[in-house]
Amino acid sequence: MVLMNRTYIGELSDHIGKEVSISGWIDVVRDQGKMIFYDFRDMSGKVQGVVLPGNDELLTIARETRPEWVVTVTGQVNKRPEKMVKEGIQNGDIELEIKGVEILNRAETLPFPIDNDTREVDEEVRLKYRYVDLRSERMQKNMRLRSQFIQKAREYLFNQNFTEIETPLLTESTPEGSRDFVVPSRLHPGKFYALPQSPQQYKQLLMTAGFEKYFQIARAVRDEDLRADRGFEHTQIDIETSFVEREDVLNLIENMIVESVESLGFTIKEKPFPRISYKDAMEKYGADKFDLRTPEEKGQGILAYAWVIDFPFFEKTDDGKWTFSHNPFSMPLPEHLDKLLKGEDVENILTTQYDLVCNGFESGGGSIRAHKPEILEATYKIMGYTKEEMEASVGHMLEAFRLGTPPHGGIALGVERNLMNLTGESYLREVQAFPMTRGGQTSVMKAPKELTQKQLGELGIKVEKKKE
Ligand code: ASP
Repeated sequence: MVLMNRTYIGELSDHIGKEVSISGWIDVVRDQGKMIFYDFRDMSGKVQGVVLPGNDELLTIARETRPEWVVTVTGQVNKRPEKMVKEGIQNGDIELEIKGVEILNRAETLPFPIDNDTREVDEEVRLKYRYVDLRSERMQKNMRLRSQFIQKAREYLFNQNFTEIETPLLTESTPEGSRDFVVPSRLHPGKFYALPQSPQQYKQLLMTAGFEKYFQIARAVRDEDLRADRGFEHTQIDIETSFVEREDVLNLIENMIVESVESLGFTIKEKPFPRISYKDAMEKYGADKFDLRTPEEKGQGILAYAWVIDFPFFEKTDDGKWTFSHNPFSMPLPEHLDKLLKGEDVENILTTQYDLVCNGFESGGGSIRAHKPEILEATYKIMGYTKEEMEASVGHMLEAFRLGTPPHGGIALGVERNLMNLTGESYLREVQAFPMTRGGQTSVMKAPKELTQKQLGELGIKVEKKKE
């Protein structure tokens, strides 16, 4: 194999007049009888190649090749004649005069064409062959932009002295919040772990642990009904920081977003991001997510960010009790702390919660946290918890708060939601590598599926057949 000295297609214009070796996929073959034209593709782009008349041995090999075969091609990089230059396309001014083709792997005809937008391909087929779908230009772009966006955020946070720390995947199920995905324990039959809905509690405990500035590109898993913009799994840029007030977190995140997206070439409508109270947003837009772009700006891919603040801390449940509107671990606004501690005027207590809205969607949310045990206790008391219930649910947090926890706050930014705004895509599956189908089936592989009797036996689980 001639993989040594490989030249990337995107760098070919630096090698005009020289002989190079490229590796990649055959994108297109056009057999014109005496000559064969190709488009080749690798991770860095596309280039046209040609097998000129005369070399019968090479023409015979070339005639056999088909699109999507994996090849190494040697050839000379030539400038195209002036008349043949294709303006505005990558490598439009050069061509590879092919001297040798080595077939690394053949390919059957693809289950669907990838030279066009694959949005219209049947979803099940598209996800069964996701690795083929991901070869298409749009999906390549989306996945690379996702990586770049995360890289920018990471670089920004490292520059601010943040520490990247992973928190457990197997954790404790909590009845509050959304429905958990649970994992049976073999060592403790009849007991279950839960996959994290967010690293919320662990990241707060990392503040108790003295890290002060934490972040994680965290996976969060929730067993909720699937929607266009919501899957079972998503990724969040999860951040927590100590000795801060709301203003500090808003500024930190705003700077991170501005630096990240502007360095990727995007335009932000308004800086600093407008701030609007929940009450004003509801009055003005009838919702706490809104789109500040003009129709013209929508076409231009402009990003209109805004902060929504001053949310009510509590809302009524169907059975008339109070529950938290966003996050039970939040601190109320400082001027409302007294009411929270006394459990008075509950409907008017406002929280430090902040949501980042972009182009009509919530792209992040967080709050300053209650870092003293009596504040968290007051919140749970308002929600009707007894001392014992509180202990069972958040006893470990109360304990940590009694062992020297600094004031702290944070946020989580939804990676997919942000990418959907950057790319203009309407579906989560366009910005995730291996998303689930609408029916909750994994891409390519066949989960969920039954376990063997042996596996079930080890877990002490008996599955009842669903009655038809
Ligand atoms: N834990 C919250 C979430 O996952 C974010 C936060 O408050 O930091 O949505």
